[in-house]
Amino acid sequence: MTPALRFAPSPNGELHLGHALSALVGYQMARRLDGRFLVRIEDIDTTRSREAFVAGIFEDLAWLGIAWEEPVLRQSEHFADYAAAAQRLFDMGLLYPCFATRTEIAAKVSERPDAVDPDGAPLYPGLHKCLTPDEVAARKRQGEPFALRLDMDKALAACRSRLDGTPLTFAEIDGSGGTTVVVAQPERWGDAVIVRKDTPASYHLAVVVDDARQGITHVTRGRDLYASTDLHRLLQVLLGLSEPLYHHHRLLVDREGRKLAKSARDTSLASLRRDGATPADIRRLIGLGCD
Ligand code: GLU
Repeated sequence: MTPALRFAPSPNGELHLGHALSALVGYQMARRLDGRFLVRIEDIDTTRSREAFVAGIFEDLAWLGIAWEEPVLRQSEHFADYAAAAQRLFDMGLLYPCFATRTEIAAKVSERPDAVDPDGAPLYPGLHKCLTPDEVAARKRQGEPFALRLDMDKALAACRSRLDGTPLTFAEIDGSGGTTVVVAQPERWGDAVIVRKDTPASYHLAVVVDDARQGITHVTRGRDLYASTDLHRLLQVLLGLSEPLYHHHRLLVDREGRKLAKSARDTSLASLRRDGATPADIRRLIGLGCD
């Protein structure tokens, strides 16, 4: 199978130095492997995505000297595919509708303040997990918005039976090409949202559907998404999707040691370019060689 890598930005801000690192790490690995390089626009959050940012992404990447295959997949054009994948999980009895509001969740989680997921967000306290079909139907009739959450206990049981006793793992490649097999612990995420209330997908669902659909063999992305891989592997097993290799690269931090954010305009590639920076300057700033 031809190696295939991707850079998958969300167009809700200008690309910054951290994105340049991510895109170049993926692009350089694709070239080393003589593989394909794809760009995927992760715009399921249609309220925060902007066409101007999509155009800026292409401009910045071309300026950095990156070439990618056309056509570019835009997730907002594939909601039906994410709905079909969610339906499969639902039909397996692994998803449940959750009508809880932020206020209801906040009141409930305050009872267990140290139960948090790897991102530090409170673990979902299971509200509405046991609604009867009649109660669900009545709430839906009243037009109450709902998310679909993974019933983690049932999902783990289904995964165990699919894997027939072998542990759920992923292969992490390090910078020098060595591979470590990591045991995934998706239970750390609790009953994660698989279909959001405000958009008919979620990052976790869309990313596994698209990595498989696009034949991605090597997922390169920042360390901030390392723990999410546990959930991605679980979904891949449950949906029978292919398993890529993973490489989670270092993150760039600001002077205070915080991860660079899209709001940090001083590190945006467009503003650095306007101030006269060259692509070679960007590579130097992010600590990459020039290959
Ligand atoms: N869209 C995600 C982001 O911009 C990256 C997703 C991924 O690489 O898996 O952070």
